[in-house]
Amino acid sequence: MPCALCGREARGFGYCHGLRWDRHPHHRFCSMACLTAGSANAKRNHGMIDKTDMETRAIRDARRELAEALTEMGLMTPFFDRPAEDIDRLIEACVDGFQASMQRQSDAGDVPF
Ligand SMILES: [Zn+2]
Repeated sequence: MPCALCGREARGFGYCHGLRWDRHPHHRFCSMACLTAGSANAKRNHGMIDKTDMETRAIRDARRELAEALTEMGLMTPFFDRPAEDIDRLIEACVDGFQASMQRQSDAGDVPF
């Protein structure tokens, strides 16, 4: 069962809007951080998680970490004049690859401990 937010293995963190399991979906999360962000989003969206909205923001938020890593490795110069969309494409590529692998491993029953 993947985390409703980031696609990592869910680990016993759950949220159901108003605890109405008959009316709203029960979301599962991997961590307290995903639970907090996901439940806050679901509260604003009638129990549903607007993943597109959150993903767009998460990708934007990840730019800072990427820039820090690039700077530390001395690789920032070629990226400096690039538009934000190019940076976001890099982040999306990493996230997509990561999530796809987690999903495959989860489907194969390879639950990491
Ligand atoms: Zn998560």
